[in-house]
Amino acid sequence: MNLDFVIANSFGVVRTAQLNRCGVDRDEIGRLVAMNRLRRVRHGWLASDSPAPAALAAVKGGGVLSCVSALALRGYWTPRVTDTHVRLTDFGRRSAAGGLATGLRRCGSRAGSKRPASSVDPTLIALSAAAGCVSDEELVAIIDSILHAKRVSEEDVRAALAGHPAKVRRLLDRVDGRAESGSESIARAWWRGSGSRCGHRYESPVWAAST
Ligand SMILES: [Zn+2]
Repeated sequence: MNLDFVIANSFGVVRTAQLNRCGVDRDEIGRLVAMNRLRRVRHGWLASDSPAPAALAAVKGGGVLSCVSALALRGYWTPRVTDTHVRLTDFGRRSAAGGLATGLRRCGSRAGSKRPASSVDPTLIALSAAAGCVSDEELVAIIDSILHAKRVSEEDVRAALAGHPAKVRRLLDRVDGRAESGSESIARAWWRGSGSRCGHRYESPVWAAST
């Protein structure tokens, strides 16, 4: 597999194990570091010269990018957040015991602490993290956005949320992958949650239009 592809597909922050798997051994990594094509971020992690800032901050902070921050980077609708949402690994929990760096928010405990394969959580793991971090309406809008993109199936989404409380799983009944924007989806989710019914298209409430 092409090295540039692996780095780009990892948002510029890669595990040494990822490089090893595509045939880049320890000596070659040393050469790439000496040539400034890669730099060491923390044990087992390297960054290119132009990594995604959020992914780099998450890895430096002892975890990987997750939750709404990972979903936003992967191109899905998310609510606006100011902090970078990070899922800590077991290693990260120990190293961050004294507290996380400014601007990082720890979340995603339900998504597990398994050794991550990537600096940015895959869609379904990030969704599982977000389920404990955003409002009901925002979660419905996120799922709408994921289904609208058609990269994962509704069945996959249900499986990802299977370990969450029934309240979260019931939100799946309010999902509609036809929604064309986060604000439309949030408004629909709120409308349905209030017990009302509406068609697919309608004028968004003023408060939703600003999201
Ligand atoms: Zn979060």
